[in-house]
Amino acid sequence: MTANAEVQALLDRAADGGRITPQEALDLYRSAPLHALGAAADAVRRRRYAGTEHIATYIIERNINYTNVCVTACKFCAFYAPPKDTAKGWTRDLDDILRRCAETVELGGTQIMFQGGHHPDYGVEYYEKHFSAIKQAFPQLVIHSLGASEVDHMARISGVSAEEAIRRIHAAGLDSFAGAGAELLPERPRKAIAPLKESGERWLEIMEIAHNLGVESTSTMLMGTGETNAERIEHIRMIRDVQDRTGGFRAFIPYTYQPENNHLKGQTQATVFEYLRMIAIARLFLDNVAHIQGSWLTVGKEAGQLALHYGADDLGSVMLEENVVSSAGARHRSNRMELLHLIRAAGRIPAQRATTYEHLVVHDDPANDPVDDHVVSHLSSTAIEGGTAHPELTVIQAS
Ligand code: SF4
Repeated sequence: MTANAEVQALLDRAADGGRITPQEALDLYRSAPLHALGAAADAVRRRRYAGTEHIATYIIERNINYTNVCVTACKFCAFYAPPKDTAKGWTRDLDDILRRCAETVELGGTQIMFQGGHHPDYGVEYYEKHFSAIKQAFPQLVIHSLGASEVDHMARISGVSAEEAIRRIHAAGLDSFAGAGAELLPERPRKAIAPLKESGERWLEIMEIAHNLGVESTSTMLMGTGETNAERIEHIRMIRDVQDRTGGFRAFIPYTYQPENNHLKGQTQATVFEYLRMIAIARLFLDNVAHIQGSWLTVGKEAGQLALHYGADDLGSVMLEENVVSSAGARHRSNRMELLHLIRAAGRIPAQRATTYEHLVVHDDPANDPVDDHVVSHLSSTAIEGGTAHPELTVIQAS
């Protein structure tokens, strides 16, 4: 068999639902023709969502950054301030956080992502206090927040096990974990960009503990900080192995490194083609993860639309606030009406989803599109026109 015929045979097997090995995934990632790779991934997506394959989902959420003070100093991060830098560091008080939650509800948001630095004083008690206050005031808001890195940090500050930390913040109101802090799980690239973060094995171990306690999560991957193709495949291999045991990862969300205002020098960003190839390989390789999310915040709207043809079934969120990747240069902005347009222009019917991916509203007739979205659009355009680097309310997409 020729090399091309071998690649096609492998693609056919993957498109038919056969499990591929990490080496086969790497071979496809390196050598499969781009469109053939996308077609195979799209075939898998259509079969998994037979009956609703014409739909692409999105969610309305708000990212609430509670502090930028952080002791972990990741080299790729443009958001954090070291504890000693009192001029740059800030924290939000509970009233401010609750006001942001109220605005989220008012604007039709269903989920908040509580995201911040590893503050040297914030142990389990901090998160218990805030999550219980949010849930008490806004029981309808889903708290899909934090990740294994924050758990590792808060458990250390409070002197408890990761399991106890998870049990307590779950009891206080945390519904599910975002995939925060996964970055790159293999040891070499992780140490290169986040030397003070817990290891990739520890990140996965904590996620496995959470899944076993009934707290599900998403998973992410940061692309383009100098990792090799083999290390990208190793990252998703590590996720697939845990998923085989727990089934707790709801989604996989690759996104690309943004190069501004940080300490990681000399890196070139992942290209759109590399990103699309990863979306497709994730759909083929992660046969045990239901949802693959296109992340157009970092790669752009057109690439996000293309991702829907390379295996993605979800286009992320209309996010009512985000400051982390924006600090590093992510500039793509949109609002709900534009997101609906993007999904339709990609040949899909948009559906607003819940955190757990149930369809809340299927926008199958543009004549019935929400008429009250001037609120979101207005806040978005105001923030963008203002050109602020630290927007109060900016409508952009993020993981
Ligand atoms: S990525 Fe998170 S943990 Fe790392 S420096 Fe930034 S805020 Fe801190």
